[in-house]
Amino acid sequence: MPPAAIGVVRVSGPGAGAALTALAGRLPEPRHASLAALKDADGTPLDNALILWFPGPATATGDDLAELHLHGGRAVVAAVETALAAMPGLRAAVAGEFTRRAFDNGRIDLAEAEGLADLLAAETESQRVQALGMASGHVSRAVAEWQDRLLGLMAGAEAELNFADEDDVEVGDAVARRLISGMGELAGELGEWLARPAAEVIAEGLSVVIAGPPNAGKSTLINALAQRELAIVSPVAGTTRDVIETVLALDGIAMRFSDTAGIRSESADAIEAIGIDRAKAAVEGADILLWLGPPNEAPDHPRPILIAAKADRWRGDVAAEARAAHCDLVLSAATGEGMDSLHKYIVEMARTLLPREGDAALRQRQRAALAEAKQWLEVEAGSREAVDLILLAERLRLAATALDRITGRAGVEEMLDALFGRFCIGK
Ligand code: GDP
Repeated sequence: MPPAAIGVVRVSGPGAGAALTALAGRLPEPRHASLAALKDADGTPLDNALILWFPGPATATGDDLAELHLHGGRAVVAAVETALAAMPGLRAAVAGEFTRRAFDNGRIDLAEAEGLADLLAAETESQRVQALGMASGHVSRAVAEWQDRLLGLMAGAEAELNFADEDDVEVGDAVARRLISGMGELAGELGEWLARPAAEVIAEGLSVVIAGPPNAGKSTLINALAQRELAIVSPVAGTTRDVIETVLALDGIAMRFSDTAGIRSESADAIEAIGIDRAKAAVEGADILLWLGPPNEAPDHPRPILIAAKADRWRGDVAAEARAAHCDLVLSAATGEGMDSLHKYIVEMARTLLPREGDAALRQRQRAALAEAKQWLEVEAGSREAVDLILLAERLRLAATALDRITGRAGVEEMLDALFGRFCIGK
């Protein structure tokens, strides 16, 4: 990468003020940008830079924070880093440490930190919108509201347990019924959130599989799509698949397009048979299927788009025209005919698989916690538990603990290193 126009160095912690004073000769007015001639301990000039001073605790990290906006040359940044490293009590930050400090100091919760990680990785418009929502606390606010309701229900149960006349069974039953109905209502709401598509669908991209017999024009179609659409060069890493994928953004939605080995029933040899098995598995796992074969041979799929390809070749051929009439669209990758309609078809189908606008989507980790909370809230009316206030109160407590995992107030120690390791140094 070429050097950037500016290089930002952040210093956070109790020594930040002293470090800034040592470099700039003064501590500027809080939260105001000013120009300073930075010098090292020997008085050697380092750079003329914009400096900012944010005293804690109302800062991104919760600690004192100094920012140096340097000229972006590598040697400039390196010289300032060397001067800082020579100061006692200062060391280089590790990846994600600033955000981790913010989390440890209660400036952001875990869901917001996860949103930030996604925001830094966002490459498409829908990824940006989803990540920004989570980073801005959409999910956290919903969890806080559920926790409030749980607390209200718990208070009702506790009051009855502590102060009620034990002989008054009828009052106890009425309290239990109210609890169960409140729990059921909350469980229903959690169920609605769980029914939404997962955040991973947006982050990793929908899978669009192109299938059909050999020579149907599958590879040519992928290439034509890749030339027309925005290709994403760095898709989410870590997944190696047998089938080659091209990650494209269509209308801001990330999609993983894959070409498959031609599917035909009378296979020639064992190697080809393996390829065909893989193709069939890919078709089954696809969110959207583009079928380039005869329409009557299309595999069973919930979201197929039947395509009559190579239209420029068969135009005028009566039998081919008749077959094409049974397809969703007529396409020629060679002339470009039908490419716009294909784009529209795919995006329309993709939207049915994405969260509706304004709905926050949850990551797998968050969904697991939500599902657990929901399970604790579901009590069968008329069961032995349904009249036992002590058991109901315990279920409420367990549901609250499960919800705490979403915002990181309990039971998340194992995943913190993994999450903050996804950030870069200085964030
Ligand atoms: P695949 O085996 O299904 O991936 O098919 P290919 O994409 O390799 O295409 C098979 C042959 O059909 C190649 O010679 C392509 O150039 C040709 N082909 C593909 N699409 C079109 C098209 O839209 N029009 C024409 N005339 N030829 C095409």
